[in-house]
This record gives sequence, structure tokens and C-alpha cells, in this order.
Amino acid sequence: MSTAMLAESLSEGRVRCLSCAHECIIGRGRRGVCRVRENVDGALVSLAYGRPVSVALDPVEKKPLFHFLPGSKALSVGTLGCNFTCTFCQNYEISQCGDVDAAISGQAHVNATDLVRTAREQGALSIAYTYNEPSVTSEYAVDIAREAVSAGLFNIFVSNGYYSTALLDAILPVMDAFNIDLKSMSDDFYRRVCGGRLQPVLHAIQAIHEANRWIEVTSLLIPSLNDGEEELHAMAHFIATVSRSIPWHVSRFFPTYRMMDRPTTPVETIARAVAIGREEGLEYVYVGNVSERELASDTCCPSCGSIVIKRRGYHIDAPTGLRCPACDRRIEGVER
Ligand code: SF4
Repeated sequence: MSTAMLAESLSEGRVRCLSCAHECIIGRGRRGVCRVRENVDGALVSLAYGRPVSVALDPVEKKPLFHFLPGSKALSVGTLGCNFTCTFCQNYEISQCGDVDAAISGQAHVNATDLVRTAREQGALSIAYTYNEPSVTSEYAVDIAREAVSAGLFNIFVSNGYYSTALLDAILPVMDAFNIDLKSMSDDFYRRVCGGRLQPVLHAIQAIHEANRWIEVTSLLIPSLNDGEEELHAMAHFIATVSRSIPWHVSRFFPTYRMMDRPTTPVETIARAVAIGREEGLEYVYVGNVSERELASDTCCPSCGSIVIKRRGYHIDAPTGLRCPACDRRIEGVER
């Protein structure tokens, strides 16, 4: 347990958590929506601080980030809990875990120094806060990130983007790259299916870009829920108005968790989303959960169309890095 920094005291022993856009007001002995932040005697405590449930070395492309240190490895860290309740969550075992207390107490404590040392020993160039929603353990992510910066490592936040102003202020100085889910352009979808709201997510995408942090956006397309032509145009249009060079990953849904009644997203829908992204002016649109035999996810030069990065699963072939071998155009992104 660790005292949460992103919180303020209110009257009668209540506290307001400032670690995400819910800004939960929490009475003594109670917890916020994410179930991993508790009011203990009038102070907010982060129950999952320092208790990762998953630590693994992943290709950075798995986050997915296709224009950030391409071909490198990220030490990926996940804890328990989430501020959303998406019925289609692909990591529901940790995000919507039933017995949070038992799960947390069963995990060894791992401090920031140990994680940074592990990242370096395993040859990672970055640490990714991922698997569950890292906002719910923001203090842990920020503490690790500060040590990572001192050790010459980069930091990546993989997140639903449901941020408070205080959270943005805390993470923007230490995070180098973000992958943000844009689940829909419908506030009703966010409220009904995810237990959140749309506007804070749109604001976060804009704020991250304006802060000159690298950002890529992911949309999981679910048949008949968020894959209509109008909605795909709206998502792509919004991203393009922030910047045409933000990569958009359109990903295929497979039935899972509490959404077993929908079919797998047809590959044709993903191909249509790619076309719509390009129609709306996005320069880089990629596919997720689709084999390269069905649809390619190469990086092509927006100026001349030549392949700059060839992808086969998580294996990449990028002989000229983020620069077009044909016309020498610089491809937006971050290289080592
Ligand atoms: S992180 Fe979000 S959901 Fe969790 S207690 Fe804080 S404001 Fe509530």
C-alpha cells in the first residue's frame, strides 16, 4: 500500500481521487470505481502500488507502437484494476479481477529500481505501462518512469486516455509515447459499454499531441457496435484533425469476456476502415489481429508510396529506419 499523490482531502474524511476523469469522491473505508484505490482513515491509498501482476519483455510493436523505436523491446508492466468496465475487455482477468485483495496480496513487491534494472538487463529500450489501465496506479508508473529516465530508458503509456488534468500534468513530463484507445465517437457507447465518457479521451489525445509526445491511436472494431461507416469516418476525421501523421490501428474483435454474442470482425470491415482512414487524410493506418497474409501492415511513405518498414507479425525489416529509401522523406516517429 502506498499513499496516493493524486488526491485531495474533502470534508468529513472524504477524499477526491484525481488519477482519472472519474475523479471519484470516496468516503472512509470505501474504494473508487477501479477498486484499487481506497480511503484509509481519510487518506487515499493505492492498493496495487508496487505489486505488478505481469512483467514481460515485448516487442514495442505489440503495444502497438509502429513509429516509436521500431524493432526494439519494451519491458511491459501491468497491475490490477481498471477505471472502465468494458464488456469486451481482452485482459479482463486482471482489469476486472474478482477478488482484488487476494490477487494483490498474492503478488511480490517489485520496486522501481528493480524494474529498471530488469529492463536494462533484458536489453529493453523502454518500459511500457500496459496490460491493465495504468492510470489506476499512476504513482507507481510515474515513480518507475522517473528512474527509467535517469537510466536512459524511454517510457510508454498504453491506456484508455480517460484522464484528469492532474493525471496529464503528472505523466506528460515523464512519458515519451502513448497508445490511446479510441473506442467510439459515441458518448453513449462510452457510458453504456465502458462506464466512462468520450470527451476526456478526445481531450487527452489532443493534449498528448500538443505536448509533443509521440502518440498512436487504437480502435477495436466490434460488429454492429462501432464499425458503421459514419462512425469510422468520425473516428478517422477526429484523429486527422489533431494530426494526419498520428498512426491509427484498426483492430479486429474476437468474442471474449461478457461479449460472446457478437461475431469476430470480418476482415472486410477492417479493410474498409483502412480505406476510410486514408480517405479522411490519415497517412498511416494499420491493422491489428489480422494476419499479414490477409492484410499488410507495412509502413509506406506518404509522399511516394514506397515501403519503408516491412512487417511480418512482430518481425520488422527497416533497413533505412524511419526514412523513405526511395525519396528520402522522413517518416514521423521516434528513433533511437
Ligand atoms: S483512478 Fe479513477 S476510478 Fe480509480 S479511484 Fe481514482 S478517479 Fe476513481
